[in-house]
Amino acid sequence: MMQLLTDYFVALQGWLFDTLVQPLLFAFGLASYVEMGFDGVEFVLLGSIELAIAYALMRPLEALWPAEQWKQRQAVRVDVLYTLLNRLGLVPLTVFALLAPIFMELESWLRFNNIIPRQLEDWLPGLDYHPLVSFLIYLVILDFAEYWRHRLSHTFGWWWALHGIHHSQRQMSFWTDSRNHLVDDLIAGLWFACLSLFIGVPPGHFIGLLIALRLVENLSHTNTRLTFGGIGDYLLVGPRYHRWHHALELPADPRFRYGCNFAILFPVWDILFDTLYLKEYLPPTGIHEGSAEEVAARDNFWAQQKLGLVLLWKALSSRKKQSPSG
Ligand SMILES: [Zn+2]
Ligand SMILES: [Zn+2]
Repeated sequence: MMQLLTDYFVALQGWLFDTLVQPLLFAFGLASYVEMGFDGVEFVLLGSIELAIAYALMRPLEALWPAEQWKQRQAVRVDVLYTLLNRLGLVPLTVFALLAPIFMELESWLRFNNIIPRQLEDWLPGLDYHPLVSFLIYLVILDFAEYWRHRLSHTFGWWWALHGIHHSQRQMSFWTDSRNHLVDDLIAGLWFACLSLFIGVPPGHFIGLLIALRLVENLSHTNTRLTFGGIGDYLLVGPRYHRWHHALELPADPRFRYGCNFAILFPVWDILFDTLYLKEYLPPTGIHEGSAEEVAARDNFWAQQKLGLVLLWKALSSRKKQSPSG
């Protein structure tokens, strides 16, 4: 089944590339970007498929079984824009174009010095014969790294200056998943690329891993009362679980000073590292902004991008002024 889908996907990618992208690249004298163009088609296609599935599954949940009823949906618009920029490839492809030269340098440096990054299959040779097990192991490793990336983006003031944009949404919906400052996207891309270099995600798994991750992420932001049940909510991150991560009022416990429920896929990381908080009811979402500019930026893409940079600058320059212990 998976093989059949992959075959269809590759055929569609080839057709789109041959009939649309390649002629355009040649027409504009960009023949040297042909290989990049081919990968770009894959990205855009994946994003579109994932978004179509997310819309078909999650929009009805929000309409029929919402966690919150909204009189107006205006605040959602900016998140739709983020999602289109992200899933239709503009943001990921820009991030890729910026990072690719750095990683090519790094890879050739490693090769020059005879350092060959090991793949998971080198440690566990049996994995070659068990693609599903290997897929799940990669998923768990990626999710572990995502937990720490997410947790640190709440802990460091300069990083929170950027990640706070994701949390300023008070009408959280499945579109909110992509609401991230562009610099935050760049850091996330760097994080992911470093990890991929060291554990060597096999290309055959890449499509499945990306779609699985994104679907769960979209679902966990969905404005719905749906839960996975008393036990299920502790096994996979769902709408109730992630809503507590976005809660306007943080639980009053020093453990949750920087937040709770940082896990992206599997709550087990929050359980292990003592950052889990879950209650029966569904709390309102958002953050308490510190200034009128921050409140004004809630619904505006450019204001959010500017605000993130201003807050980032403030956080970095106030750090320099502090004593070394601070
Ligand atoms: Zn967060
Ligand atoms: Zn979120």
